[in-house]
Amino acid sequence: MRFNQVLESIKTYEAGKPIELVVREFGVAPDEVVKLASNENPLGTSPKVQETIRAHADKAHLYPDDSMFELKASLARRFDVDESEIIIGAGSDQVLEFVSRALLNEESAVLMSAVTFAMYEIYAKQQGAKVLRTSSYAHKAEEFIEAYKRHKPRIVYICTPNNPTGDATETVEIVRIIEAVDPEETLVVVDGAYMEYAAAKDARYAVTPKALLRYKHVLYLGTFSKAYGLGGMRVGYGIADREVIRNLYKMRPPFNITTLSLAAAIAANEDEAFVRKSIVLHREQLQRYEAFAKAHGLDYIESYTNFITYLLGEDRKSSEIADALLRKGVIVRDLASYGMNALRITVGTAAQNDRFFAEFEALLS
Ligand SMILES: *Cc1c(COP(=O)(O)O)cnc(C)c1O
Repeated sequence: MRFNQVLESIKTYEAGKPIELVVREFGVAPDEVVKLASNENPLGTSPKVQETIRAHADKAHLYPDDSMFELKASLARRFDVDESEIIIGAGSDQVLEFVSRALLNEESAVLMSAVTFAMYEIYAKQQGAKVLRTSSYAHKAEEFIEAYKRHKPRIVYICTPNNPTGDATETVEIVRIIEAVDPEETLVVVDGAYMEYAAAKDARYAVTPKALLRYKHVLYLGTFSKAYGLGGMRVGYGIADREVIRNLYKMRPPFNITTLSLAAAIAANEDEAFVRKSIVLHREQLQRYEAFAKAHGLDYIESYTNFITYLLGEDRKSSEIADALLRKGVIVRDLASYGMNALRITVGTAAQNDRFFAEFEALLS
């Protein structure tokens, strides 16, 4: 079969390994597996949300409300924006796909940091667009502006906090990039998948969709998959000027999230207490990862997210360590495929982190 030629340049997205794989391949008991690879909320799904999902189990034969009125109204209240400035996706991933299809073709280019969320590149290549990267993983305004002027990309991606590195970009830097691009030709996508963690840590990194709505050429992306604990329900959102949203809607298939996902997201959005609790636990546990790294002479990137990136020295290979951990039932993310000799570890519960520290320490010595 002859497929579109662009497919030859696309590498399939490599998701964090599932618990089932470790059980199947290494014979570890399912409740012995510690999954710290996909940045899910270690507190799980909020009990209130679980109740809502159960209460909607008898509605699974019905298509969801395609207007997603209630979810949009709830998000509009949370962010102080208008419903017409919101689009819902099956994960913010799906909104990324809408954006790419709406703006890119073989003549266009996208600009992103040296190491960032892998899907930006995959969606761009699906459209035949060219992928340009700055030279550092940190989002430096000078680097972005210089590359922008040279190549005039159609989309500029700012992932803050950045995945898989965990660092964040100050809002003043983001504004510099936004103001340097031509609003008629280029959309700036600010991906805030981990924004709840950054905003709780340091106000200089707190980006709000409301503030970005001053600009007509900026799209903010948020998700329920991380701090809100709904990775398995696949709900995310985009917030932008209504003209941007109106055009993205043309890319959207009907009923793009499920009846249960919609109900779960509405309940999760109203359960701020769960998110606060998650962030408090996280902050406590993140400090343990910093202390562990210091005690063992390991470098790490300061984290504004729910994971931490440990940078390994030349004497250790991240892929070998990740593999050895996997055999012990501890799943972390190896960043070798991103060109980094590093491990990305989702900060788990105290007990999960204890397991990681014990197994990792044994490998270090
Ligand atoms: C997790 C993540 C997303 C989106 O996740 P969804 O589950 O599709 O909402 C988007 N961007 C980044 C940087 C992420 O880490």
